[in-house]
Amino acid sequence: MTASIIDGKIIAAELRGRVAAEVARVKAEHGVTPGLAVVLVGSDPASEVYVRSKHKQTQEAGMASFEHKLPADVAQADLIALVQKLNADPAVHGILVQLPLPKGLDTDAVVNAIDPAKDVDGLHPTNAGRLASGMPALSPCTPLGCIILTKSVHKSLEGMNAIVIGRSNLVGRPLVQLLLNENATVTIAHSKSRDLAKLCAQADLVYAAVGRPEMVRGDWIKPGATVIDVGINRLPGAEGKTRLVGDVAYQEALKTAGAITPVPGGVGQMTVACLLVNTLRAACAIHKLPAPAV
Ligand code: NAP
Repeated sequence: MTASIIDGKIIAAELRGRVAAEVARVKAEHGVTPGLAVVLVGSDPASEVYVRSKHKQTQEAGMASFEHKLPADVAQADLIALVQKLNADPAVHGILVQLPLPKGLDTDAVVNAIDPAKDVDGLHPTNAGRLASGMPALSPCTPLGCIILTKSVHKSLEGMNAIVIGRSNLVGRPLVQLLLNENATVTIAHSKSRDLAKLCAQADLVYAAVGRPEMVRGDWIKPGATVIDVGINRLPGAEGKTRLVGDVAYQEALKTAGAITPVPGGVGQMTVACLLVNTLRAACAIHKLPAPAV
């Protein structure tokens, strides 16, 4: 048996198309143009690539895109002042401060300064708490993307056994909450968990969000399970180049899984698409419009 490939590229493109259609409708019917502000501090090359891609995709969806670049040695107070200015700006419905921040800046203080209604990264404690309480919330984009990818295979996740490996605030924890909202039965594993292979073997849905190249082996996977690989690990490749691998040993898992996301071309594609979804949702909520159909 060979697993079917969950094509994040196609699913993300479809999602961006639905967002663009809803943005056009909200503009035409209500005169509201959703706006996303991205703040980049310093010049980390990977972050610059992400920010460029966010800018392009935001504009392609018909939204307003605002970019703010600050030097790596910006004072904490000046960064917070910019966030407060964006909080007060009626053209801005979503604020994303690109992480990680350079050393010396207090990430928690910056995230906590974002108006929860504009917190499209879903990292503000208000949104994390609302999500954990089963209340409507802006949820982090990567876990949202994981759920959409899973639902491209299974219409309903009700009663399925899921394992989430990793418990970060960005991925693992919110993913667990979203899976609970879908009525899955969830095991959350981390660096202190015992016998991961045995825990994985019981799971119909496996989510790997660890940051360790190919840690999840093919023989850990229950035959037919759906595997969503969040990991993005850069390894040395041929001719001095680098190559990307996930947290799952892909070639091995292909033989046992029922469906699997590739790296690249899986979860990574969904994250920015879900950022557009969150910005559109935030704009509708701020203007007290019905939730968009995305
Ligand atoms: P993180 O904050 O470093 O968290 C890693 C988690 O993995 C922690 O909870 C840690 O456990 C756990 N862990 C570490 N070693 C483990 C082991 N041997 N066995 C089981 N669990 C272990 O990372 P993150 O931000 O969640 O990101 C995880 C991966 O996803 C990274 O490769 C990152 O690049 C990728 N990522 C991809 C996207 C995307 O768009 N595709 C977005 C975000 C992140 P403890 O809590 O016990 O330390």
